Amino acid sequence: MIKRVKGTQDFLDLTLFNFIIEKISHHLALYRFSQIATPIIEHTELFTRSLGTATDVVSKEMFLIEHRGDGQHEDQEIEHICLRPENTAPIVRAFIENGIQTIPWKVFAWGPMFRYERPQKGRYRQFNQISMEIIGAASIAEDAQFIMMLDRFFHETLQMNNYAILLNFLGCPQDRVKFKEKLRAFLDKLGTAVCANCMERKDKNIMRIFDCKISTCQELYQNAPHIADNLCPTCEQEWNAVQLQLQMLSVSYVYKPTLVRGLDYYSKTVFEFASNQLGAQNAFCAGGRYDGLVKELGGAEDQPSLGAAIGIERLMLILENYISRLALPQKQALQVVVPMGTAEQSLALILADVMRASGLCVEVLLEGDSMKSMMRKANKLGAAHCLILGSDELASKTVTVKNMVTGEEKRMPQVEVVGFLSAFAKVT
Ligand code: ATP
Ligand code: MG
Repeated sequence: MIKRVKGTQDFLDLTLFNFIIEKISHHLALYRFSQIATPIIEHTELFTRSLGTATDVVSKEMFLIEHRGDGQHEDQEIEHICLRPENTAPIVRAFIENGIQTIPWKVFAWGPMFRYERPQKGRYRQFNQISMEIIGAASIAEDAQFIMMLDRFFHETLQMNNYAILLNFLGCPQDRVKFKEKLRAFLDKLGTAVCANCMERKDKNIMRIFDCKISTCQELYQNAPHIADNLCPTCEQEWNAVQLQLQMLSVSYVYKPTLVRGLDYYSKTVFEFASNQLGAQNAFCAGGRYDGLVKELGGAEDQPSLGAAIGIERLMLILENYISRLALPQKQALQVVVPMGTAEQSLALILADVMRASGLCVEVLLEGDSMKSMMRKANKLGAAHCLILGSDELASKTVTVKNMVTGEEKRMPQVEVVGFLSAFAKVT
């Protein structure tokens, strides 16, 4: 047997998945976001330029495709393409490439992302994200509104209450240059007491030391300097403003000084929504501000921006715990047409066709079993009614309608069936 690729999943029931997409689309429309879609494949350089080569995603987790043009010529240049690991950089690329002039550009997109990670609960190699971005959002008040928008969605629309919003402020690039020096001096004092991984991070991506999973490192870092205590006056003011506005909007958050996020493009506000129901992979939504990214990717003008991504699989893991509380769409009542023999099959197909044209959900049993076994089959399918067509019914242009809940049977002219069942559906 050929099995699915490691770290991928088959979705055999999309009810919850589609429910999430429908609800978030509606919610985002209230904030004037419109939906877009970008390709699943992009040039690898888009991510090395934006996320940074020293990040885990780019250095270890990329699904790379190398393509030599049409394959006909040996000397053709190799095209470096990859499966997208995230969707912020592609959306920014789309903004620049399509010459979007309407600022702010408020868009969302959803679809699969790919990262070559070690698969475990809540961590897959192909997973789905809903990405929301505001490109051209200079005011820091946008940050509070954005976090509120997400909080209202999880708390009110999805009725979640078992999560925390973790918040930090990474300052401007100048703040980070200064802070990294300070952090390096702190690490120098610790010498070789930290793990080999952190020694490497110190040279390549120093702020990521705070993500170290090793407890001895974590203990040592308790006395480390924090970026939010080392901001320039403008950033300091903005950091205070974000917090004050969140408080005024009744959005509870936890200041987490060690939240640095994995990707290089973040500046200023960063946040994560984390649930204690997810175990080690506890973040189901994450994002922040990326003021320099548009310019970095070749945009003519600077466009301060912010965005976030919801991990759909992780959100589903949480929602599955209380699925009965959600108003998931109900399946339509099923009507089963039961032709007793091959002579009645054509009539059964015509009747079913007319019924479906009136919006009824219909299954026709065409396997020609005994009456008893067909009724059992209909019951198993969860039929609301069975519409029995035998030789009598065929001759008299009638149909016997059996209510599968009460067992009641009623014979009526075929032309009356749709009216009868539609009226029935309205009452129940
Ligand atoms: P983590 O720290 O859990 O690896 P991340 O910082 O790499 O997350 P982001 O790049 O911010 O994640 O992606 C946003 C969201 O996408 C995450 O909060 C998570 O819900 C989801 N996500 C990220 N990687 C995976 C994955 N491999 N499988 C499933 N969901 C994922
Ligand atoms: Mg990750």
